[in-house]
Amino acid sequence: MSGNAGVLQALKDTFGFDAFRGRQEEVVARALAGESTLAVMPTGAGKSLTYQLPAVLLEGTCVVISPLIALMHDQLRSARANGIRAATLTSADADWRETQDAFRAGELDLLYVAPERASQPAFREFLSNSSLCLFAIDEAHCVSEWGHDFRPDYRMLRGLMDAFPTVPRLALTATADNQTRADVMAQLGIADNGLVLAGFDRPNIRYAIRHRDNPVRQLNELMANEPGPGIVYAQTRRKVEDLAEKLATATGRPVLPYHAGLDPEVRAANQAAFVASEDIVIVATVAFGMGIDKPDVRFVAHVGVPKSIEGYYQETGRAGRDGDPAQAIMFWGAGDFATARQRLAEVDEARRNAERARLDALAGLVETAECRRAVLLRHFGEDPPSRCGNCDNCLEPASVTDVTQLARKLLSAVYRTGQSFGMGHLQKVLTGNEDERVRQRGHDRLSVFGIVEGDEARLLQPLSRALQARGDLVATEHGGLALGGSARAILRGERTVEIVVPPKRSRGRRADATP
Ligand code: ADP
Ligand code: ZN
Repeated sequence: MSGNAGVLQALKDTFGFDAFRGRQEEVVARALAGESTLAVMPTGAGKSLTYQLPAVLLEGTCVVISPLIALMHDQLRSARANGIRAATLTSADADWRETQDAFRAGELDLLYVAPERASQPAFREFLSNSSLCLFAIDEAHCVSEWGHDFRPDYRMLRGLMDAFPTVPRLALTATADNQTRADVMAQLGIADNGLVLAGFDRPNIRYAIRHRDNPVRQLNELMANEPGPGIVYAQTRRKVEDLAEKLATATGRPVLPYHAGLDPEVRAANQAAFVASEDIVIVATVAFGMGIDKPDVRFVAHVGVPKSIEGYYQETGRAGRDGDPAQAIMFWGAGDFATARQRLAEVDEARRNAERARLDALAGLVETAECRRAVLLRHFGEDPPSRCGNCDNCLEPASVTDVTQLARKLLSAVYRTGQSFGMGHLQKVLTGNEDERVRQRGHDRLSVFGIVEGDEARLLQPLSRALQARGDLVATEHGGLALGGSARAILRGERTVEIVVPPKRSRGRRADATP
């Protein structure tokens, strides 16, 4: 077909590519045919091209809604480098006049704006007498309250687009579970048959999720085996700085911090150094990464849990974009979930259930003995094989143990001691340690005193972690543990509890004697 040949020629002429990747072609074809689409494609799949190419081929301007000025300017630079006539209208631009003139004269292929501006009546007015070919909505999950990054301004876009009913819409996102996906389509007025879902699998990334006992030692071990560039995500600015310093000392490698509290010049310099380097490790908050194009990141490590599976996928997806082997490794602790679940109380009631469901899904991934990749891909609605051969659980199978009885012992100890003691104290009570504090409180006279013996005691910590991850044990303000979630159902014998017992690893701690 000559039409198709024309598109391929334009692909070659504009971007220098010989072929489409994944499902790009389908998305482009839909836009060219005037059909609206939600394209769900992983980071690095090449979403930008799917609206830029139609923008070049079609008469009129493609209006691109994008949530971040930095992101828009990155896109602007690369579009212009490919000879595409593009401009941005943001508060950071001084060339508004020229942009507006160029737009009115029909000399722009792409016009990038933020949702706050796009939703204003003045912008609708501005567009009204010109020729438009497409609305592209980048990071479209922001339109949904189910998404992990809800932006109320995205809700207003519908009004703008409805004012131009003949202009097709192309919504783009890397992160959409079933619910978010359906919501995005409904909110943006995209018909059900307009969904193009590309593969989420990143086969070259090896996933591993481990309990965190000593992050500096654990990261040191990782970095000793991986000399290439890496990103370590930590949860707070303070932790970023602390970890960056300790890692530099422990490993002797170049390690730089990155967080929103750093001087903007330092931040930009650290980012630039990282992008250009072949060995720098950057320790960062999640503020780092969006819009950064570095294909050879060899590992992404999380110290503490990400906000959701979507966040985990997006952050780990920054590893190995060049297709060479890369690692994604998470070091988690029970406290991460405890804090996250405590924060639920502060969330708007309307959003709380969605947030809780996200945490539960994440806990499921962290705790699973199944293939990590299979769990991830199923979360995104795919139907993957049950084993990938390239994750910790496939490579070193973990075993699942039924610990229902032990869970009932632990939960009743929590209950009988008044739901205000931490795991250390509970362990002493359960194992019959006549510590002074135990005696003072009279806990040595409780029926649960000393009811956990021998081998079982070893499972108390992993069990407590699992129960906290699931929300069956919740942390109190003063660091104690209280019953939550399904704790009462477990106590009543209505629920069983299984935990994953990790394989004894030969590296690090010598724990490889006998099981
Ligand atoms: P996304 O927005 O989905 O994260 P980008 O649009 O930034 O991805 O594209 C990621 C990288 O893939 C870019 O470097 C881009 O040039 C490259 N790319 C996109 N499409 C193709 C293609 N058809 N062939 C080769 N490389 C491509
Ligand atoms: Zn696997």
